Order: sequence, then structure tokens, then C-alpha cells
Amino acid sequence: MALSMLAHRDEVGLKDGLLLVGGQWRASGDGVTWTHRHPATREEIGRFAVATAEDVDAAVKAARKAFDEGPWPRSTVGERVRVMHRFSALLREHSDELLSLLALDNGVPKTFGNIYAASVTVAADVFDHHAGWIDKAGGETFPGYQGGDKLAVTFREPIGVVAAILPWNAPFLLFAQKLGPALAAGCTVVLKPSEYASFSVLRLVELLLEAGLPEGVVNVVTGPGDPTGEALITHPLVDKVSFTGSRAVGKRIVEASAGTLKRVSMELGGKSPAIVFADAEVPLAAATAMGTVTMGLSGQACIAQTRALVHRDVYDEFITVAQGVAGYMAYGDPFDPAVLASPLINERQLDRVLGYIQKGQEEGARLVQGGNRLEGDLGNGNFVAATLFADVDNKMTIAQEEIFGPVLAVVPFSDEDEAIRLANDTQYGLGAGVYTKEVQRAFRVSKRLRAGSIGINGFQVEPHMPFGGYQQSGIGREGGRSAYEAYTELKSVMMPLTEAMM
Ligand code: NAD
Repeated sequence: MALSMLAHRDEVGLKDGLLLVGGQWRASGDGVTWTHRHPATREEIGRFAVATAEDVDAAVKAARKAFDEGPWPRSTVGERVRVMHRFSALLREHSDELLSLLALDNGVPKTFGNIYAASVTVAADVFDHHAGWIDKAGGETFPGYQGGDKLAVTFREPIGVVAAILPWNAPFLLFAQKLGPALAAGCTVVLKPSEYASFSVLRLVELLLEAGLPEGVVNVVTGPGDPTGEALITHPLVDKVSFTGSRAVGKRIVEASAGTLKRVSMELGGKSPAIVFADAEVPLAAATAMGTVTMGLSGQACIAQTRALVHRDVYDEFITVAQGVAGYMAYGDPFDPAVLASPLINERQLDRVLGYIQKGQEEGARLVQGGNRLEGDLGNGNFVAATLFADVDNKMTIAQEEIFGPVLAVVPFSDEDEAIRLANDTQYGLGAGVYTKEVQRAFRVSKRLRAGSIGINGFQVEPHMPFGGYQQSGIGREGGRSAYEAYTELKSVMMPLTEAMM
């Protein structure tokens, strides 16, 4: 029997999504809505408002007013810390409900949400982490450099109105990576979730209000890039755009920021390598590489190491284990605890991934496993089988472009220099993995890789570790002190203490 999500929708009690402007939930100005189709079945399961340019204008003005006149940017450390911690407690309390909403949004299996980066607990940890900076990341005091004695100090002040734009794949973590530091710093926010994952984010915002965030500090405009996103990134009263998503949209945002010289933070795509040396724990490396491009998000994860560079001596062993892991993937109802991997988010992405698989074969890579769309009971959904390509040349399209699907491309190498050259032969630079038992090599190679986050024999996003990309994988970092500081302006204040300076 064909899979259906309607019973889950009714059980969760999914309600239509509204905009949040200046503390009021309301429909869009022209009444237009977006119909959400579930990626596992393509059934229509819910609707939410599409914010027009006028709605976005009202949301930005509400955020501006809350910043210029409201209590949040002027609140005490204690007040802000309490709201942040209350929110993270609410997240943990509502974890199961939120994971159900996420499963209805993007089809990520609930099991995966409990154990991995899609988890609500990680988002709560990120809020707790940023709450910790509020009383620590202040300014500095400097001695006089020239002239007479003086007092020279710096202040960190909130940057202003932040437009936070999210993708659909990991909305809890990315909501936290943006709103955690922005709210901790005292900014106000206009949030645009992805049109493919809005229901779970709307619930996060309800919980934020329940935690005591004052009116107008967070406003929500749902809808697609056009018209909603465009109206937001071009709005003159927005001070900073914090974006996670594709490289193409990232470039458009940088372009649009020029008008009023907005600050931008960008977390974009990747084509991260996993380098597997001959002395590595090969089964661990193969299971991790294949697992992260299939399990959970089916490779729709920026940080997935989708290019395995494997030493020729252990190449066959790697392929055998990776093939076994790929064959083990279980697809289906995201509410079923036995299901391990999601469908692709929409038909466009399904066609794109199947197109890359075809291209891989045309360019001469060896298809070892998968490569097909799943049929039968899952035939209405956007499911693609876990796919493994061997004998890939690093110049091939499947080794260079971000596929954002369950496809691992395995490239052979002969020595350390070649591995590093291949790893760095990319326009991206988000992450990389180094698999070896030799400690000096692990660090030597890590230092030579042009990527923002390196995992030695494994990797996980941590709330207090900077995360972000070199090259075309982004601008700036999320996580840690530098992320908090990216939501502040630095002000210098100087006062002569003697007449001599005058
Ligand atoms: P996307 O770029 O299509 O959409 C991201 C967001 O931008 C959505 O909210 C979308 O509505 C909005 N948008 C689209 N056009 C816009 C415009 N002109 N103006 C303003 N907003 C606009 O990306 P996606 O498909 O949602 O997500 C997948 C991409 O995100 C992949 O490239 C992936 O690597 C990347 N990603 C990166 C990270 C990271 O931390 N580096 C994390 C997750 C996803």
C-alpha cells in the first residue's frame, strides 16, 4: 500500500501557518498561501502564508522599532540570559513534538532527529552556549599609544536588525546558530524559514515568545525566495543578513547587500573530502562516509563528506564496506523508528540528483550501488537509493559539484601530497575528514587542507566550535565567540585624562 502522511498530520494537529509581525500572528496582505507537499508522498498536508513585499516591510519596521525603542537591546545581562535559558528548556521539553513537525516538513526520520545534528537538543545546547557569552564578550581597555594619558575603551553593541534566512534541511540547528547569537547580542530579527520547512520553525518561534521574548524582537515572514526573500534582502532598514543555503542564493544576497552595505554572514554549500590513508580504520571510515551521505538527510547536508579520497592499498576494502552500508539503508515513513533515511526535498531536487547520477555514468565513473529512484510503495515520493560511485576522477562533475543527495564519489590516490592536492582541488571549503592512526600525519594534513572544519577519524558540529567555510562555502563562522561577535558592532571611545593631549 502506498505510503501516506495524512494520519500523522492529523495526529500532530498541524495548523495553517501565519506571519508574525510586531507580536501579532496574521495572514499575508493578499491572502496568498503556499501549499506544502510532503516529500515522501507528495500529498498536500498544510498551508502557510506567503509574505508579500508589504508584509516584509511591516515586519522589518516592527523589528526596527523594537531595536530603536524597545527593551531587548537595552535589557540587562540577567534578563537576556534568563529568556535564552528558558527557551532552551522549552526546546528540550517539546523535543518530540518538534521532531514530529520536522518529519512533516522535510521527511527527516524522527529516529535521526533524536541522535544527530537535526536534533532539538543540539539546538538547545547552542542557545545555552550563546547565553554564556552575554556577560563575557564585552569590549577592552587600552593604554594610551601617543600623546598624554587617556582612557581608551571599546564597547560591543548589537548590530541592529538581522534578516535570518534558513534552508530546509536542518532548521533547528540553523535557527539556533542564527538566533542564538543574534538575540544574545541584543539584536532584533526578521526570520524567513525555508518554504520547505516552515511548520517546525513557526513552532520554535511560539516557544521563543513563551520564553518571554518581548514583542517585535522576532518577526517571521514565511514564503519562497520570490517575493518574500527578495523583499527582505533588499530592504534598506535591515542591517545584517545571516544566510544559510545554496551558493547561488548566497551570491545574490552579497550582490543585494551592496545597496546599503549590509553586513553578511554566509553558510553555503560544500563538496567535502574524506581522506582515507592506508593505515586508517577503513571500516569506520567507509561506514562514516557512506553513512553521512545517506543516513538521516540522504546526503542533503552541507557538511556531508561526499568525496572519499581513498589510498589505493585499501580502496577495494573501502568500496566493499561502503557498498554494504548503502545496501542497509531503510526508507519509508519518517515516523517509523526503523526508517533511517529521508526522501529528497522536492521534485526539482529529485531530477537534479538523478541527472548527476546519469552524468557520473556518462563521464565514466563505475556505479557500484543504487543510482535509481525507489518505486513500489514509495513510488509517489522523492526517494533515491543510496548510491556509490567508484573509480571517480576528481575532475568529473560528480566530484566537483554539490549534488545534495545520497551519492558518494570515491577517488583513489597514491600518496599524501596527491591526497592533499585532490582534496583542495575544489571551489568549496566547508569541511574535510582525515582518517589515519598516525597523529602527526593527521595534524600535518589538517593544516594543509583549505576547509573550515576538519574531523580526524570523525566529525560532529559542536555549539562552541566555529563552523563555516573557506572559498565559496561561505563568509564568517557560526558557533563560538566569533559567531556572537558577528552580531555586534565594535565602538571605540576615548577620553584624555590630562590636558597634554589637547
Ligand atoms: P536555497 O538557497 O535554495 O534556499 C535557502 C533559503 O533562501 C530559503 O529560505 C529560500 O527561500 C531562500 N531564498 C531563495 N532565493 C532567495 C532570494 N532571492 N532572496 C532571499 N532568499 C532566498 O537552499 P536550500 O535548498 O534550502 O538548502 C540547500 C543548500 O543549503 C545547500 O547548498 C547546502 O549546502 C546549504 N546548507 C549549508 C549549510 C552550512 O551551514 N554551510 C547548512 C545547511 C545547508
